[in-house]
Amino acid sequence: MSKKNKKVCIITLGCPKNVVDSEQLMRQLEANNLELVHSSDESDSTIINTCGFIQSAKKESLDTIMHAVELKRTGRIKNLIVMGCLAERYAETLKKEIPEVDDYVGANRISDVVTSLGAHPKFDLLGERKLTTPKHYAYLKISEGCDRPCSFCSIPLIRGKHTSKPITHLVDETKRLADQGVRELIIVAQDSTYYGLDIYGKRKLASLMEKLSDVQGIDWIRLMYAFPAGFPLDILKVISENPKVCKYLDIPLQHIADPVLKSMKRGINTKSMSKLIEKIRAEVPGIALRTTFIVGYPNEGKREFRQLENFVKEMKFERLGVFTYSQEEDTSANKLGDPVPEPVKLERFNAIMEIQKDISYRRNKSLVGKSIKTLIDSKSGGSGIGRTEFDAPEVDNEVTIHAADKFHAGNFYNVLIDDCDAYDLFGSVI
Ligand code: SF4
Repeated sequence: MSKKNKKVCIITLGCPKNVVDSEQLMRQLEANNLELVHSSDESDSTIINTCGFIQSAKKESLDTIMHAVELKRTGRIKNLIVMGCLAERYAETLKKEIPEVDDYVGANRISDVVTSLGAHPKFDLLGERKLTTPKHYAYLKISEGCDRPCSFCSIPLIRGKHTSKPITHLVDETKRLADQGVRELIIVAQDSTYYGLDIYGKRKLASLMEKLSDVQGIDWIRLMYAFPAGFPLDILKVISENPKVCKYLDIPLQHIADPVLKSMKRGINTKSMSKLIEKIRAEVPGIALRTTFIVGYPNEGKREFRQLENFVKEMKFERLGVFTYSQEEDTSANKLGDPVPEPVKLERFNAIMEIQKDISYRRNKSLVGKSIKTLIDSKSGGSGIGRTEFDAPEVDNEVTIHAADKFHAGNFYNVLIDDCDAYDLFGSVI
């Protein structure tokens, strides 16, 4: 293998599933005695693991590529590889428009990236990862791709059909993660609730979560990316009764108005969606529900948006995110155009976030004076930053812990909450 590629920098954009891919690639490169460095400036080769599912993500990926191209033009890096979703979706266009990139490698092709660097894929290491998250938590990608027909979504075009990983592989992967010190396992997929339908002929998420909870060293299991239609109710018993499973569920709903849900091809209507949320809350008292909505979808008129506002007010989700509609070519919604003006989309985005800010503040206020089990993620300047079981990394709320010098990242502590703001809590270890 040529020395010129000795030092490699991997830049990971996009979602936790991309993080897992980069971690697997890092393990492969290390096994080939390549040195992983943190910045392009120090590297011989830079690899950008891109995201390509909506406009804003594509822009971030292109900006990152152009920055690296500049470094290459000025001789600061010798080799530039672009991998992942943007490369999968637009390889031919990118090759023409940005020829300075040495190789474009699509999604799910980690071995091809290794080969592109002149190194040798280590098939015996498949599934092994070099963690990039704080070592006490890790994402577990339980499947790849998606079989859902959501009209606005380009992910099935990029990541292909839903493919579950066998339970035995996931348990082995989890054991290796626990051996590396992982205590919180975050289950991710495009659609985690579809797990098993392809390889076992039935939904197996509940039994998978039970098996993962048997792994020594894992204290918290968090479920993300659930899908509302065909929701496997048997996982509610696992979330409710298994002490290792966080009383937390991330379930993107995207909208609530029937005409919009129908056009989005979400396979569920207003009535069933509301009933599902009520059922989840009834079966798992105290659960934190995280969801996301899209505003400005082509047939979202004033009435449909008001219905969404009222739903958010009524359901009082613990955690909530909003996206403005991004028209994506080759998706089935593309032919509907993009009739909702950007300023209106932004207005609707702000309106929902304003409602949520108030809901989140009232919830946080009700926790002042209470003690909450908190996992410290990091420490800086004498304070600790942690999360409760109701908070996923990167997207949800945080707990700032005063005078945290003698406490350790990666450990759990009971924190007495003495203050809050709309999204975060503040307190001291007791
Ligand atoms: S479930 Fe729908 S929104 Fe999610 S990845 Fe699949 S097609 Fe896209």
